[in-house]
Amino acid sequence: MITIRKTKFNVNSTEGRLLLLVLLSEISTLVSGSTGDRTQFFRNCRENCERTNCSLNGKEIQEQAVKFYKQSIFDLITQWTCADECQYACMWRTVFAFFERGWPIPQFYGKWPFCRLMGMQEPASVFFSLLNFLMHLRMLRKFRREVRDDSPCYILCHIFGLTSLNGWIWSSIFHTRDNPLTELLDYACGYAVVLSCLYCMIMRMLHRYSLFLRGVITLAFVSYYINYFAYLSLGKLNYSFNMKVNVCTGLLSAVGWFIWCHQVRTRRPYFRRILRFYVLFALAMSLELFDFPPILWILDAHALWHLSTIPLVSVYYNFMIEDCCTLRKEKALKGDYSLAYTYNKNI
Ligand SMILES: [Zn+2]
Repeated sequence: MITIRKTKFNVNSTEGRLLLLVLLSEISTLVSGSTGDRTQFFRNCRENCERTNCSLNGKEIQEQAVKFYKQSIFDLITQWTCADECQYACMWRTVFAFFERGWPIPQFYGKWPFCRLMGMQEPASVFFSLLNFLMHLRMLRKFRREVRDDSPCYILCHIFGLTSLNGWIWSSIFHTRDNPLTELLDYACGYAVVLSCLYCMIMRMLHRYSLFLRGVITLAFVSYYINYFAYLSLGKLNYSFNMKVNVCTGLLSAVGWFIWCHQVRTRRPYFRRILRFYVLFALAMSLELFDFPPILWILDAHALWHLSTIPLVSVYYNFMIEDCCTLRKEKALKGDYSLAYTYNKNI
């Protein structure tokens, strides 16, 4: 439920009307793609609200305004300051001002307006991120139950699983409360998951090769990731560049698996599982291309993207379970990997 918190700013007052006129004058800017936070209406509302309701540092709500805000325990835990409350209230005032005039719903600071729930900024994305986390936990347990720990590539599933669990934790934290630190960690840990997919693909292909070679490649991956993390944390976070890097890394692992599928199509019928995973993943990712105001102020394209990845988790783990079990059987039949076996194309 959307609750518009009262501020000292009154839209029906003379000042309010004047501000609406200013808003009208801003329509040309809005048509050219500017977001709601750039409107004078929003800026004045926020400034006025902060001046009358907040302490000098913008953190504390002044005594006379406390009853209007009625912050819940969740709002306090997630550290909603007075300035944040003003921003939230003025965002909805601006949205309704736009809505009443039949103008398109504006974005604020690059985001659609979301209804806050239990202190969470984007509740649907938080909920689906947590479901993804639980799904990874469930499937990692299934993997550990069904695959013996002496199986080839046993560790790879754990690397992927633990990276994913970490990624979904940060995704839920970021969607709960968006600030530069949670944004950085969501992007960086999200990229770690995509990179771990590429790493697992390469290590799976080279699992019969020497420990030295695999060690060198692992070091290269770790140093590349540290560099990328440093780049994300030092520079201004560039959303489109980060997205391109994610897509390129994901494409590399998809191409690697497609080649593998082609090579083993007669020997390993379970290749269809990984093929299915990447095809479905590409379809799910296309949701990220859509951009529309949240349905019921809760469900946007990004939340749907997080929802769509939940069923894909089991497809990936089931492939790894079958692959590890098959490799173990082959290892048991042929003994430990000899050099001759290394050059056998039976990957
Ligand atoms: Zn997200």
